[in-house]
Amino acid sequence: MPAWVIDEYGRNDVLRFTDSALTPSVNFSSEVVIKVHATSLNPIDISMRGGYGSSVLKLRREPLSLGQRGSEFPVILGRDVSGVVVDCGSGVSLVNPGDEVWAAVPPWKQGSLAEFVILNENEVSVKPRSLSHAQAASIPYVASTAWSALVHAGGLNPDNTANKRVLIIGASGGVGTFSVQLLKAWGAHVTATCSTDAETLVRSLGADDVVDYRTGDSERQLQSREKFDVILDNVGGDTEKWALGLLRPWTGAKFITLVTPFIMNTDTLGLVDGLLLSGMTLHTKAITNVCRGVFYRWGIYAPDGSALDQIRELVDSGKILPVVESQFPFSEVPEAFLKVEGGHARGKTVITLI
Ligand code: NDP
Repeated sequence: MPAWVIDEYGRNDVLRFTDSALTPSVNFSSEVVIKVHATSLNPIDISMRGGYGSSVLKLRREPLSLGQRGSEFPVILGRDVSGVVVDCGSGVSLVNPGDEVWAAVPPWKQGSLAEFVILNENEVSVKPRSLSHAQAASIPYVASTAWSALVHAGGLNPDNTANKRVLIIGASGGVGTFSVQLLKAWGAHVTATCSTDAETLVRSLGADDVVDYRTGDSERQLQSREKFDVILDNVGGDTEKWALGLLRPWTGAKFITLVTPFIMNTDTLGLVDGLLLSGMTLHTKAITNVCRGVFYRWGIYAPDGSALDQIRELVDSGKILPVVESQFPFSEVPEAFLKVEGGHARGKTVITLI
């Protein structure tokens, strides 16, 4: 099948178009083969092109996706899909051939920069009727990540979020633009940080209060605000040194960061030592902060078809809009990578195949 593959890790020149990538076929009863109509890029695609997570992801890859000599190559990147089901295993009951579906493809599986992708049915969800495939492909990976962070790590849900004060650090990219809308749909008061030129976008998505981190000291600007119940950090680095102090202590307030050293540790130290170091780091930060009256959590993407089912309802009722910044044809995948690698995202970069 046509696909963009990499045969080694590196910069953009490792991306190679082929007409003869292995077409996936159903091997297990729970599998679903999807014809990809559109996909989108995420920062993880840039990182994985360079080898990010290669050791830990190789271990999670299914044996059938490994190359002949146990090598992971050729690897197909691309973590989002909107498309049409073409084949299902005998045990699949949630979708049928011909259904329009969307999904976030786990990083340990072959990705969606290809004509077909294969997933388990619990990773797949019926696509929102109100969106084109290109629009739908902009949502699943960032939505699944935001859901994992805000719902599973942050404890938020449609019934307990109204009037909670939530701070989104880095609100203008893929995860940020989705998170602002999800939280507003659930009734939160949302404060967002972003660059000057992103303020109009972030406010149009519903943010109640916007702090421009480029025109001043975010920490000082945020300290003058009422304290927060939940903070989602999409930026990382030094942020957590000051942001934890913005939480309302002894009320169950939570800080969740998406920027964790977990994969980097396993890349540099190997699986066992990397896992140990990550566990110790998280444990130390969690204990230190719980003594100060706030919870410290890591947000990690997880495939979740049922979360996408709930998100579909919010999309089809107009409460969550796709934020597509740029769109590229399948022939221009390397150009799309360069766009995302350049940073300063304002929503998502989508690639259309059909
Ligand atoms: P994007 O690249 O789409 O967006 C990042 C946004 O942050 C850009 O709009 C950028 O715009 C803005 N930004 C950069 N620096 C700052 C700053 N100091 N303050 C406020 N905004 C800033 O990334 P995603 O939204 O897709 O992902 C966010 C982060 O989460 C990434 O680091 C990603 O790797 C990580 N991630 C982690 C996952 C996990 O499983 N743990 C899963 C998915 C993502 P500008 O520079 O113009 O301000």
